[in-house]
Order: sequence, then C-alpha cells, then structure tokens
Amino acid sequence: NRPPRPHRDFIQSRASTPHNPQIRIMQWNILAQALGEGKDGFVRCPMEALNWAERKYLILEEILTYRPEILCLQEVDHYYDTFQPVLSSLGYQSSFCPKPCSPCLDVQDNNGPDGCALFFNRQRFQLLCTNHLRLSAMMLKTNQVAIVATLLDRITGRTFCVAVTHLKARSGWEAFRSAQGSHLLQQLKVISSQQGEQPEGVPMVVCGDFNAEPGEEVYRRFMISPLGLDSAYRSLSADGNSEPPYTSWKIRPSGESCATLDYIWYSRGSFSVDAILSMPSEEQIGPDRLPSYHYPSDHLSLVCDLSFIQEPHRLM
Ligand code: NDP
Ligand code: CA
Repeated sequence: NRPPRPHRDFIQSRASTPHNPQIRIMQWNILAQALGEGKDGFVRCPMEALNWAERKYLILEEILTYRPEILCLQEVDHYYDTFQPVLSSLGYQSSFCPKPCSPCLDVQDNNGPDGCALFFNRQRFQLLCTNHLRLSAMMLKTNQVAIVATLLDRITGRTFCVAVTHLKARSGWEAFRSAQGSHLLQQLKVISSQQGEQPEGVPMVVCGDFNAEPGEEVYRRFMISPLGLDSAYRSLSADGNSEPPYTSWKIRPSGESCATLDYIWYSRGSFSVDAILSMPSEEQIGPDRLPSYHYPSDHLSLVCDLSFIQEPHRLM
C-alpha cells in the first residue's frame, strides 16, 4: 500500500566540467524513530507508516536516489545498527555525534540517543580532521551539537570544511537559537584559521535543521557572518532571494505547521551552486502532510550540487 515516491526535478544553472566535478550535498532531518513513534504526535500519520523495518528502506532509497557525495543527517537514532554499516558498504566514511541528553531516551524501547551524522564519499575525499562540538548559548552548555569535518577533495586538491547541526526546536527559543548559531559561526572561524594558508579562510558548507524560519535572527546572523556564507536554495531561487516555501510540513494535536527550517549554507566566494532539487508540491505531499506512507520524515531532504570556483592563481 506504499505509493511510488513523488518525482522531484533538479533546477539547474550549470553543467559540470570534467576537471572540476560537482559535489552533491544532501541535508536531511530523517526523524528519529523514537521521537516519531513516542513523542511527536503526528496525528494524521498512521502508526504503521512509521514502522522502522519498512521506514528505514524509504530513508535509504531517498539517499540512494540522489547518491550525494556528502550527506548531513539530523535525528539519527539508528547510526550503529543501520546507517553506519549500510552506508559504509556503499563507500561512505562517517561520524556520529549524539545529543548529550537526547529526548529519545525518554521513550520506552528506544534505540539510544539521536544526534547528527555526517557521511562522505571516502573515494573522493580524505578526512583531515573531525571536530564534535557541543553548542553553547550565552556561555551555557546546551543539548545541541554539531560535527565539523575538514576534507581534502582528491580530484581538485582543495580543502574545505563541512558542518552539520540541529538547533533547539520550538517557538520562544529564537534568542537561544541565535546564540547557538553565533557559537557555531565562531567555532567555524577558529577551525578555519587552524587550516591556515588561505587568507579568506577555508571554504565552508554548513548543513542543518536550524528550526528557524528565514525571518529569524539566526538566519540573518548566518547571512551577514564574516565567513561570507549564502544559502544554496536562496541563491538558485527564481528571484535570487527566496527560500523554498517549506522544508517541513506536519500536523500535530496543536495544529498544522508548514515551515522553512532547513538550510545548506556555503561560502559564496569559493563555491557556485549548479543545481538544487525542487521541493515536492503540496499536492504530492498530500492532505495528511508528513510523514506518510510515501515519505518517511516530517522534513524534506535538501539536495544541491556545488562546484569550486576556480581561483585565479590556480588557473593556468
Ligand atoms: P528540542 O526542543 O530541541 O526538541 C527535541 C525534539 O523534539 C526535536 O527533534 C524536535 O524536532 C522535536 N519537537 C519539536 N517540536 C515538537 C513538538 N511540538 N512536539 C514533539 N516534539 C517536538 O529538545 P532538546 O534537545 O532541547 O531537549 C529537550 C527535551 O529533552 C525535552 O522535551 C525533554 O523531554 C528531553 N529531556 C530528556 C532528558 C533525559 O534525560 N533523557 C533530560 C532533559 C530533557 P524538530 O527539530 O524536527 O522540530
Ligand atoms: Ca523532529
């Protein structure tokens, strides 16, 4: 009784060139199994649609449909028994950072804490360094984390950092998210400067469920940060200045929530965005919204193709 997955088109601005192949990035909050079954209260989603034995294949199918070189996931509570072994056999190297006090642990028969996970194609990239961060807000430690990996692209010879994070959820926590975002930006700056050499810093890709609409302070902080970041979906939008209308759409007892919360940030001086994967239409999502029999999470995946902008001194 599972309908086929809705087809999503790539919106393309440029084709790749052989000596500078694109890097496909996927950002996705996959919905922790324990939260989906035990905490979220998705009242229009049948419990059977959340059955892990089937749902895990929908998540893996989505990943394998797009085969990203870099995969950034949030709410992973099946890393050791599923994603790490399966994706390792498919050529990915990875890192997992659990939340210090994951709400999954409150759910009966949970599978351990949820957290962020970062996967990359181990043939294409060499891992130079990994940092696991516990985010602070106003000097206090919080329950949110980030992974920052420094990678060497074996094809182009370029070094860059990729980060994955999941900021604090819920309304009323806007200032808290902004403080967490500032802490992450500050840490990225430190990690970038440790790589030395490049005056403009190491190119960055920052993926996350920011739990913040584009109007929030944390979005503005990322937009104006000295790291020179831009949002991939904004860059390739029709008017060049719009995020997608939604990246998450769900119905809880408290009501319906349709919101743009997830982003792929990139250094605008170092990468160009060559393509983004369009969001499914409201009709494709359906009246019961997400998750559902044909879509395994309440968040949609974001996929983009980045390529390095040729530096003048490297052009010969
Ligand atoms: P967050 O507020 O960041 O949310 C945690 C998860 O809940 C997120 O994955 C979020 O999903 C989801 N969520 C968001 N809105 C709702 C909602 N309205 N109803 C149900 N789920 C929602 O949590 P923190 O990490 O800051 O942790 C706080 C939680 O941790 C408390 O709720 C408490 O239950 C639990 N806790 C557990 C402890 C323990 O020992 N295990 C100790 C202390 C607290 P999304 O990001 O997709 O919106
Ligand atoms: Ca969630």
